[in-house]
Amino acid sequence: MSPSATDAAPIVIVGAGLAGLRTAEELRRAGYEGGLILLGDESRLPYDRPPLSKQFVRGETDDTTLRPGEFFTEKQIELRLDTAATGVDTAARQVRLADGSTLDYDQLIIATGLRPRLLPGLPDAQGVHVLRGHADATALRTELAEATTALVVGAGFIGCELAASFRSRGIAVVLVEPQPTPLASVLGEQVGALVARLHRDEGVDLRCGTGLDTLLADDGRVRGALLADGTEVAADLVVIGIGSRPVTEWLTDSGIALADPAAGGGVLADEVGRTSADRVWAVGDVAAWLHDTGHRKRVEHWTNAGEQARLVACAMLGAAPPTAARVPYFWSDQYEVKIQALGTPTATDEVHLVVDDGRKFLAYYAQDGKLTGVVGAGMTAQVMKTRAKIAAGAPVSDLLTPS
Ligand SMILES: Cc1cc2nc3c(=O)[nH]c(=O)nc-3n(C[C@H](O)[C@H](O)[C@H](O)COP(=O)(O)OP(=O)(O)OC[C@H]3O[C@@H](n4cnc5c(N)ncnc54)[C@H](O)[C@@H]3O)c2cc1C
Repeated sequence: MSPSATDAAPIVIVGAGLAGLRTAEELRRAGYEGGLILLGDESRLPYDRPPLSKQFVRGETDDTTLRPGEFFTEKQIELRLDTAATGVDTAARQVRLADGSTLDYDQLIIATGLRPRLLPGLPDAQGVHVLRGHADATALRTELAEATTALVVGAGFIGCELAASFRSRGIAVVLVEPQPTPLASVLGEQVGALVARLHRDEGVDLRCGTGLDTLLADDGRVRGALLADGTEVAADLVVIGIGSRPVTEWLTDSGIALADPAAGGGVLADEVGRTSADRVWAVGDVAAWLHDTGHRKRVEHWTNAGEQARLVACAMLGAAPPTAARVPYFWSDQYEVKIQALGTPTATDEVHLVVDDGRKFLAYYAQDGKLTGVVGAGMTAQVMKTRAKIAAGAPVSDLLTPS
């Protein structure tokens, strides 16, 4: 792109998280030399979220910053922190900001991520937490220093990781999950049962098949909870980890097509991030991209944000996209065990459990005999070597037959 592009309106990215930052980086890497503004409503430099439920909350690291301040100067990325976008006028190509001003854009990227879901009707008490951002994790970490008992509501990835982090600090943990096992809706009950075993072996009081009825508080401070099965749990710390919803309310009047909230919500986009509005793109956790299956869905994982950033930057600049087949990947660290998934394993797939060795396991997932993915715990090499077969949609029998 020619330097004269700097005279035009800039590319504006709303959301200075992983996806927004990576998109800015990819645009520069692909040769874009024009104006580039990255808007974030938080006060911190863009930071990494995975450590928040792990090393950061345990007090093992303080800094999860993704890039130092000088990086933005060097790359001529104008980072505006504490700046929330409140609306978009796609006809005028303008973003509205919280201070009432507007910002012209040449192209706009929506990267506003997620916000934790809350349970309606719960009393507003001290000691009750959610976890998405640095401020949430700092508040949680501060209270953890004094806590002896914790209740974690929801055994999804964040709930399971927090339960593990709390146990490593010697805190008694009750983990409550309405589904029959942890992670049942993502990985299915068979693999979920192995995750349940891991937590029980570590002393977590895991209660599946029940949920939170209400919180109990004294003098504005939480002291426990009443569960849906009628039992009472004492806890001086409660974390609500029941999932998140995409941050799209600022787009309500924009005319940009959004997914049905009942189907996960998010900004609808094609297979390279193009939304329904001209020159507007969406990336990361907030974006419901079109997948090979023909469905549009959001993916809430770290690797996806970086991969989408590269694809969207190439599409915006008309550059050739990466040629390697995309095989989705995510991980979750619980205790010393790394759980990893490659491909698109789903709860409704056939599951072939080929290793079940205490804390380690390996399971292949398939649909109609065709390999869809692999999930392993403590089995990195075995998970990774499945990549080519998943990309090729190989018969699962290839992996089950001893060679
Ligand atoms: C605690 C935690 C642990 C995780 N652990 C793992 C893991 O182990 N493995 C894994 O694969 N994935 C993990 N993830 C998921 C991974 O971190 C996300 O997929 C990734 O952060 C997505 O990046 P994003 O930029 O789309 O969203 P975000 O990181 O949420 O960034 C969005 C940014 O936009 C800002 N924003 C929102 N609205 C506005 C607005 N109107 N104006 C301006 N700015 C706005 C937000 O404040 C935020 O800073 C974890 C996530 C969390 C929260």
